[in-house]
Amino acid sequence: MRTPLIIANWKLNGNKYFINIFLNKICYKLKNKKLFNISIAPPLIYLYTAIKKIRGSNINICAQNVDINTFGAFTGDISAKMLKDIGVKYVLIGHSERRIYHKETDFQILKKFLNVKENNLIPVLCIGETLEEKKKKKSKEICFNQINLIIKNLGIKIFKNCVIAYEPIWAIGNKISVKPLKIQKIHKFIRSQISLYDKEIAKKIIIQYGGSVNNKNSKELLIQKDIDGLLIGNSSLNINNFLKIINNIKFNKN
Ligand code: PEP
Repeated sequence: MRTPLIIANWKLNGNKYFINIFLNKICYKLKNKKLFNISIAPPLIYLYTAIKKIRGSNINICAQNVDINTFGAFTGDISAKMLKDIGVKYVLIGHSERRIYHKETDFQILKKFLNVKENNLIPVLCIGETLEEKKKKKSKEICFNQINLIIKNLGIKIFKNCVIAYEPIWAIGNKISVKPLKIQKIHKFIRSQISLYDKEIAKKIIIQYGGSVNNKNSKELLIQKDIDGLLIGNSSLNINNFLKIINNIKFNKN
């Protein structure tokens, strides 16, 4: 049984005031609702403020990034161990904005993934193709390569209790019209590839979709068999829109 997971990726947005209002309201509105998992990814500097606010609720916190080192002379860095220490649950790894703007390499993604797992946090591995790759019909190949990087280097078992977020780069932040059936096909492909290595892991792994999700397209996305949740940027910054999306979640998936 796969419990739907919705993550609000606030990126470089928000302040203390926004966080207080948003988290107070969401904790209150989602009291006693346990049929799905909701996680908020505020900017790193607000992680602890957010963790204190959601204490005792059924919301949890996701970090948008982590560094590759655990301790030492690495000015400005924050380790997976520290994220665990303050009560973070999920960590985004390999988000396209980090791959593009911060030139994150495959080696760094691997190292971050491993560090996150070793510290009993849940990695959310972001994968997806560019528009150019999509036009060349390489979407599946790109997703396969990004997943295979982890499997080849760390083994399939590392994917136990992990999340994959399929986030086609052309869909992010563009307010495009999403085609749920086409997204479903890629999700099915991703699950089938994992299944070649381990059927049990494939059955259980949460595969989220991210890219221009809003309260109009979320319902059709969430009813697809292999779409187990959503990673939401823009639409998660408005509490009412975000709550409408959550209200579209109806059931668990087998
Ligand atoms: C994202 O960057 O993770 C994302 C899905 O953004 P948006 O919802 O704004 O497309």
